[in-house]
Amino acid sequence: MRNKRILVVGGGPAGLMAAGQAALSGARVIVLEKKSKPLRKLGITGKGRCNLTNKAPLTEFIKRFGSNGRFLRSAFDHFYSDDLIRFLKKLGVETAFERGGRVFPLSGDAGEVADALLKWARGNGVKIRTGIRVKGLIINENNIAGVKYVNLQKSETAGEYIADKVIIATGGASYPATGSTGDGYRLAESAGHRIIPIRPALVPLETRGDVAKRLQGLSLKNIGLKVMADDKKVGDIFGEMLFTHYGVSGPIILTISKIVVDLLRKKQRVFISIDLKPALDEKKLDIRLLRDLNSHGNKKFRSILKLLLPQKLIPVCVELTGIPGEKLCHQVSSAERKKLRLWLKDFRLDITGHRSFNEAIITAGGVCLKEVNPKTLESRLVKNLYFAGEVLDIDADTGGFNLQAAFSTGCLAGASGAEKST
Ligand SMILES: Cc1cc2nc3c(=O)[nH]c(=O)nc-3n(C[C@H](O)[C@H](O)[C@H](O)COP(=O)(O)OP(=O)(O)OC[C@H]3O[C@@H](n4cnc5c(N)ncnc54)[C@H](O)[C@@H]3O)c2cc1C
Repeated sequence: MRNKRILVVGGGPAGLMAAGQAALSGARVIVLEKKSKPLRKLGITGKGRCNLTNKAPLTEFIKRFGSNGRFLRSAFDHFYSDDLIRFLKKLGVETAFERGGRVFPLSGDAGEVADALLKWARGNGVKIRTGIRVKGLIINENNIAGVKYVNLQKSETAGEYIADKVIIATGGASYPATGSTGDGYRLAESAGHRIIPIRPALVPLETRGDVAKRLQGLSLKNIGLKVMADDKKVGDIFGEMLFTHYGVSGPIILTISKIVVDLLRKKQRVFISIDLKPALDEKKLDIRLLRDLNSHGNKKFRSILKLLLPQKLIPVCVELTGIPGEKLCHQVSSAERKKLRLWLKDFRLDITGHRSFNEAIITAGGVCLKEVNPKTLESRLVKNLYFAGEVLDIDADTGGFNLQAAFSTGCLAGASGAEKST
């Protein structure tokens, strides 16, 4: 029996893993990549250091994907973080782990991972065609037969590739300059698949007024943060955030952004409440404030704020609490002290919007999981059509979870696609 031909649409981590795996199992594999180079996005992951995966145990790992995480169980059973670490070691990429179980290449260079993956795939016989944008699927009687493409390097000449199987690994719609412009959703839709509406996730948020702009560049560590929607608490988190010219960013903001984006879409009024002193409850904080004010009775209120706050926050604190900065500490009334205490525990910023897909680390939504077999990643609607990576309706928090999902689904789609290949 002749070896089957598999086309992989998209040369990201999911696509290359699928391609290399399928070729290893005996299939003739071609990767069709729109950009002039594959793995563009992988190269910028983890600020160029590539947070590959996470050492979290499987149940914890799955939870990071929310309710859709269960879909990934078979893919993770097939190829999990330990397998990825071993696989990379064989390719000569040593890894190291950091706080929160995050795994990085020891070299701290995403390029090393990209080069190793490409070399491995090519070494297994995978052909990589760049500058090829797949723009349609050829489907005969519910069976995939190939793809239609345009060659971006040859004045957009059109053509077709015939294949026994097609794996769609086109990524999401975020950071479109890397090539992920949402084409996979349109291809899946043309095959009859439902697309869960896509939204930017792990995305910075915009705030009302000029407070954030005045604090631009200020990073707050070890703060508590609550997300409030129509005055009800919908989430809380502890960690680090950053002010920008348009609003807020940084690790905990990215983590809560998915809930916030969904609340804003439902037209709810959202604000964040920052607890600048999470280690002190109100009583302890009051004792501390009283002590600071008493022991600096003849100093200006503004000047003792540096004992409590970073410099940039002082004018904002004076303005928002309404306590005159020039007032002497012994003149600060107990009502004013209360105002200060409440503000330190509940510094509010109204969220007016979120940044676009251009700045979103991941895309929420995508190919509806009900229409894909989780054991093989084959479409339940069109035979021999598979999906892998971010094009599926899966997304997780930062920490290496998203790349592992891309590698795991790629590996499973490649292996199951090649299963009946010889
Ligand atoms: C700035 C940034 C930092 C990140 N850091 C991390 C991190 O440290 N850890 C982590 O786990 N995750 C991280 N992520 C997320 C992670 O990069 C993605 O989840 C992952 O790349 C998804 O892999 P993929 O193969 O599904 O898609 P992609 O990597 O997006 O690859 C898809 C490929 O398909 C190609 N393509 C698209 N349409 C077509 C078409 N029509 N024809 C041909 N080719 C096409 C694209 O050009 C692209 O090369 C980060 C993302 C960003 C944007």
